[in-house]
Amino acid sequence: MSELMRAMVLEEAGTPLRAAEVPRPEPGPGQVLLRVRACGVCRTDLHVFDGDLPRPKLPLVLGHQIVGVVERVSPEVEEIAPGDRVGVSWLGWTCGSCRYCSTGRENLCERARFTGYDVDGGYAELVVADARYCFPIPPGYPDLQAAPLLCAGLVGYRCLRMAGEAERLGLYGFGGAAHLVAQVALFQGRRVFAFTREGDEEGQAFARELGAEWAGASTDLPPEELDAAILFAPAGELVPLALRAVAAGGIVVCGEIHMSDIPSFPYEILWRERAVRSVANLTRQDGFEFLRLAPEVPVRTKVRAFPLEQANEALETLRAGKVHGALVLVVDETAGAG
Ligand SMILES: [Zn+2]
Ligand SMILES: [Zn+2]
Repeated sequence: MSELMRAMVLEEAGTPLRAAEVPRPEPGPGQVLLRVRACGVCRTDLHVFDGDLPRPKLPLVLGHQIVGVVERVSPEVEEIAPGDRVGVSWLGWTCGSCRYCSTGRENLCERARFTGYDVDGGYAELVVADARYCFPIPPGYPDLQAAPLLCAGLVGYRCLRMAGEAERLGLYGFGGAAHLVAQVALFQGRRVFAFTREGDEEGQAFARELGAEWAGASTDLPPEELDAAILFAPAGELVPLALRAVAAGGIVVCGEIHMSDIPSFPYEILWRERAVRSVANLTRQDGFEFLRLAPEVPVRTKVRAFPLEQANEALETLRAGKVHGALVLVVDETAGAG
């Protein structure tokens, strides 16, 4: 077997990924080697690609919504065996002993390593991952449909948890994450209001199709007050807009890893116990919970597939917006689609 594998490599932020043959990774202690079947494309990948995030490992293989089949495990690994189909998300490793890790907040671990940022990710034929951070993929989800669950789904689910018991839920930026969160929210008996870029009629129609009772532009006020809003677009100007749309006691949850500056706003729109908070990635508990819940809903993912070699095109498609659903790279041509 060849010692090389195909990968799309980021050599420097702001330059296109390069299709390359690179050495196959070797699993270290506690790690598994996965043959990647499909890998989702996330807005975070675009932020790393653009240099919006400060310290990526370079050269780097992007990608943190990985669906793969275990090819080999290191001797210490007992929970996973060759042939298992597993998923790998952004949270690649945590220290397990810091103040955050020891209080159920491993998502905030200061020594955390992130997949496709601190360590190589899934825009490649093979990837190594820490076995403890691999998730079982629910049976019944084809590879392509499973990939977006691993970030859009998991982080979206954590954002939804932070929205508390909110009945009237606004989703700003109706793309990969929102289309999954909307389904879970409706399943939980909430009412969904969708906000898209102005004039994105197709996006608004897509949201209504999924069960949103109202869809409009992010600059519009919804027909009634919201109890919570989740922002899945990296635009800081949405924060005051969402604050104006939520009722007293409501919360605005920012689900993006990077956002443009939030413009100043009058205290009056925060007053009466409205809150703004961010959500930083996920804990493994979020992951296990969401992946158990997804088939119950059942969450259906709408995906648009690109071959691995077209990763640059996929990233530019995401940048251009108007993606109704999630983007996925097909790494193994035999990967299942639904
Ligand atoms: Zn830690
Ligand atoms: Zn992501």
